Order: sequence, then C-alpha cells, then structure tokens
Amino acid sequence: MAARLIDGKALALQVRERLAVESAAVLAKTGMKPGLATILVGDDPASQVYVRNKQKACELAGIYVDDHKLSTSITQAELLALIEKKNVDPKIHGILVQLPLPKHIESRVVLEAVSPNKDADGFHPYNLGRLVEGSPVFEACTPKGVIKMIESAGIAIEGKRAVVLGRSTIVGKPLALMLLQRNATVTICHSKTKNLASVCQEAELLLVAIGRAKFVTADMVSEGAVVIDVGTNKLPDGKLCGDVDFEPVSQKASWISPVPGGVGPMTIAMLLYNTVESAKRQAGML
Ligand code: NAP
Repeated sequence: MAARLIDGKALALQVRERLAVESAAVLAKTGMKPGLATILVGDDPASQVYVRNKQKACELAGIYVDDHKLSTSITQAELLALIEKKNVDPKIHGILVQLPLPKHIESRVVLEAVSPNKDADGFHPYNLGRLVEGSPVFEACTPKGVIKMIESAGIAIEGKRAVVLGRSTIVGKPLALMLLQRNATVTICHSKTKNLASVCQEAELLLVAIGRAKFVTADMVSEGAVVIDVGTNKLPDGKLCGDVDFEPVSQKASWISPVPGGVGPMTIAMLLYNTVESAKRQAGML
C-alpha cells in the first residue's frame, strides 16, 4: 500500500488565508490588527530563521509584529520586565519567546511570566493545566497542528488506538491529552519504554516526536496505520529529515506526513491562529 500524503504545507496555507480574513475583521471592528510580540535573545542562527519565518507568516496574515531582538547579555530581570510590559500592552494579543534561551536565564521562569491570556505558544502551566482539565484557552501549537492535520484528512480519532512517541511538555504530552480529549485510546512511549516496536505496531495512529532521524522503521508500523512525523533532524548533508524512515514506512501506512512540508508549517499556522483567536476574544468576537 502506498500511503496518502498529509500535506501540512498546503493545509497551513489554507489556514493562513482564512486567518487573513479574520484579522481584517478584527481590524475593522477594533481599529487594531491582532498583534504578536516576538522575543529573541541571542544570535543562534536557527532561532533567527524560525523567528523570521514566523514574522513573515504573520505579516502575510495581517498580524502586527512587535519585534524584539535582544543581546545574549540581557539579564533575566530585564527580560521579565519586557514581558511584563507586553502583558499589559493592548496592541499585543500574543507573546512568543523563542527557545532556547541563554543558560543564565531560566526558561521556566520566563515562560511563566507570560500572561496566560497572551500565551500564543500554549506553554504556560495554566494553559497546560486547562488542557488536562479538557478546557484549554491556548493549545500548544505543534500538537494542535498535528490534530488539525489528522482532522483535515477526514481521519477519525475517536476510538482509535493512538501511540505517541515522545513525552516532552511542548509536543508529546499535550498531543496525548488532545488525542485523549477526542476519545482515542492513548499510549505514551519514551526512552525507557520496553518493547517499543511492538507497542508501535499496535498503533492505528502513530505520532512520532523524539528527535532521532529515521528512527521509526517499517517493521514498527502496522499495515494501514496513520503516521504523523513531528521530528526535525538535520542530516550531515544539511537536508532536513523526520523521525520516520519515510519511503519504506509510506509503503505500509495509509496516511503519512512528510518532513519537510508536514508538521513544521502547521506549527507556525497555529501560532497565528492562537494570536488571532486571542484578539477576537479581547474584541468580544468569540
Ligand atoms: P525532546 O524534548 O528532546 O523530547 C524527546 C522525547 O523523545 C523524550 O520524551 C524522550 O524520552 C523521547 N525519546 C528520545 N529517544 C528515544 C528513543 N530512542 N526511544 C523512545 N523515546 C525516545 O524533544 P521535543 O521538543 O518533543 O521534539 C521532538 C522532535 O520534534 C525534535 O526533532 C524536534 O526538533 C521536533 N519538533 C518539531 C516541531 C515542528 O514544528 N515541526 C516542533 C517541536 C519539536 P525521555 O523523556 O525518556 O527522555
């Protein structure tokens, strides 16, 4: 069987076009565009590219970007003061702090300083707690993008046996909770999981986020499974590849997402979505 492709790039474009219309409606009602503050500390080249891509996508969707590029030497107190300013700025509806932060700054403290009402990344413990409760305000962008990809392909989640590979706070755990909320039966695997291959073979939905290039091989995947690859790994030749061995696995899966062009573009689209939703909430449009 040759799998059908879940094209995250095409879906992200559709989402962004819809958001441009919604941003225009917010502007018409309030006189203000939805606004995202982007905060980048230091000069890590990969982070610079990620932030630039997010900013470009914002501009195309009619979202105002409030750009802050800060020196690595900034103190934690100075960074917290900037976040506090953005928390109370009415032009700002979402705040993005690009990770990783320099070692002298505690990421946890910084992420907790972002107002839960402007937490466009969905990383604040308040929003993660609301997700556990089943009533999230902001949902983390990457797992939310994965769910949208599955749903947009018309794949049912309810009642399915889902296996999530990876248990990070930003991808694996929230993704497992979102699947559970949609009535999947969910197993979460990690580096200490025994008989990993046989657990994966039971999956009707296999969601992979571990950061190991081509780790999931065809023998770990059951015939007809839906495979979503969150992994982003750089190969020695500079090319990007996922955590799934794409060619052989796509011969067994019914649906598969590629890397690049899968979850990555949807993560950015969901950041925009969260920002526009936040602006609509503040404008009483939800
Ligand atoms: P992370 O924080 O490093 O977590 C990795 C998880 O994978 C951990 O739970 C770890 O288990 C598990 N793991 C590692 N090796 C394993 C193995 N051999 N067998 C089973 N489990 C294993 O990573 P992350 O932030 O979730 O990111 C995961 C991948 O997704 C990375 O490639 C990252 O670049 C990518 N990513 C992509 C996007 C996007 O927008 N496309 C967004 C975020 C992340 P333990 O908990 O036991 O250590």
